[in-house]
Amino acid sequence: MFVIDADAGSLGGVGLSVVEWVLVAYFVCGLIFGTLCAFVAVNKGKGAVGWFTRGLFFNVAALLVLVLVEPSPMPFRPPPWGKVPTTYPPEPCPECDFENHPLHDECLGCGAEASPPEEPEVRRA
Ligand SMILES: [Zn+2]
Repeated sequence: MFVIDADAGSLGGVGLSVVEWVLVAYFVCGLIFGTLCAFVAVNKGKGAVGWFTRGLFFNVAALLVLVLVEPSPMPFRPPPWGKVPTTYPPEPCPECDFENHPLHDECLGCGAEASPPEEPEVRRA
């Protein structure tokens, strides 16, 4: 427990003044709201770094503004804390349901021919 030492103007034991404690609390709240803002921003198609900074300085006010703004158009929504995919998802074979590379031209499960939607980059090299 912290006891206010009226003579020294500090909270017990640690040696920080009341003003310093308020600054530490403000900084910790900033980190919490900055993280929340970055999380909400990514799920609304906004920049995470910019909204983390706003949350760091403006705390709950930045989070309220972010909740109220319209989300930006996104081609897809990543699941919360999910990894953003950088390639097509695997394609199941219509013959045997084996999950092949999205640009496969032959099923690795049954050998059936397939027509990839575009030429693989490896072949262009
Ligand atoms: Zn197959």
